[in-house]
Amino acid sequence: MMVNPVPDLIRGDLRHHESMSLHCSWRTGGAARAYFIPADLNDLSLYLKQLETSESRLWLGLGSNLLVRDGGFNGHVLALFNALNRFEIDADRVYVEAGVACAKVARRATQAGLVGAEFLAGIPGAMGGALAMNAGAFGGETWDLVAELIVLDPAGEMHRLSQSEVQRSYRHVMLPKGYGIVGAELQLTVGDVAEAQQRIKTLLAQRAATQPTQTANAGSVFKNPPEDHAARLIEACDLKGHRIGGASVSSKHANFIINDNQATAADIEALILFVQQTVTAQQGIDLEPEVRIVGERAP
Ligand SMILES: Cc1cc2nc3c(=O)[nH]c(=O)nc-3n(C[C@H](O)[C@H](O)[C@H](O)COP(=O)(O)OP(=O)(O)OC[C@H]3O[C@@H](n4cnc5c(N)ncnc54)[C@H](O)[C@@H]3O)c2cc1C
Repeated sequence: MMVNPVPDLIRGDLRHHESMSLHCSWRTGGAARAYFIPADLNDLSLYLKQLETSESRLWLGLGSNLLVRDGGFNGHVLALFNALNRFEIDADRVYVEAGVACAKVARRATQAGLVGAEFLAGIPGAMGGALAMNAGAFGGETWDLVAELIVLDPAGEMHRLSQSEVQRSYRHVMLPKGYGIVGAELQLTVGDVAEAQQRIKTLLAQRAATQPTQTANAGSVFKNPPEDHAARLIEACDLKGHRIGGASVSSKHANFIINDNQATAADIEALILFVQQTVTAQQGIDLEPEVRIVGERAP
């Protein structure tokens, strides 16, 4: 299928058949039919306005929670990292666009004497992804910080949604179909900078000690079931190190699957399924994937 002709007034970078392995932390996956990096928010809105409503879209941050199947994504990837980049502080409020890295939000807020966003320092995603996933760590969740969410609807029109208008839960946010997050107003608290910086240092050190941070992975593959830990259940099934093709269950953290030998997306997906089925059979608990899997299987 052809990509629509792009009107001259669009200023962003439109690529065709872009390999998603370049944009996902698992370093594998098929190609996107169209891959658009907008010049700014207005440009993104214009791009969406010229798309047929039937065209599939995939909103992308840093691809740190995403598996794109080997047959690729037959639609338009809207790549916001470093493209929607505004970050403004006004007293204890922060306006942040979706393409700003989470770690940068933690660092800049702390430098400005604001606390509450420290946990974002360890999340290797962009704010749009963190808002879409309700990412969290060390007792903090992204939605604890949100005062207002700014979204574009499928026709490229902007809407502001108050915190109470958006349903969310653990690692889950309910957005209307086709809507994308372009920014948020965060409410932080004035606090002790030195303490906040220490918290960031501690949580980064804990991550380095417990997670295979130097490998190609997508963080925790499964959500933790109520009152339990997915990693504990996987380890109890003796699955650490279990391998399918180029993918294996990390021996450092059982809820991480790593691409350690040119894994295909199919290897990773097969391993996810195998872990899930084994835990159900041996522990009687159905693990729910936290990572998002999109696209077509290779023919
Ligand atoms: C080493 C490692 C450690 C991790 N630790 C944690 C952790 O402690 N806690 C945690 O919660 N997660 C963790 N993760 C997972 C991941 O970093 C988070 O889920 C992060 O918020 C994803 O952000 P992203 O920008 O990479 O999203 P992507 O992977 O690009 O996208 C994830 C999903 O969000 C959607 N999305 C992205 N941007 C938008 C947008 N602007 N509008 C609408 N939808 C959008 C995508 O379509 C996709 O469905 C970890 C990952 C890694 C690799």
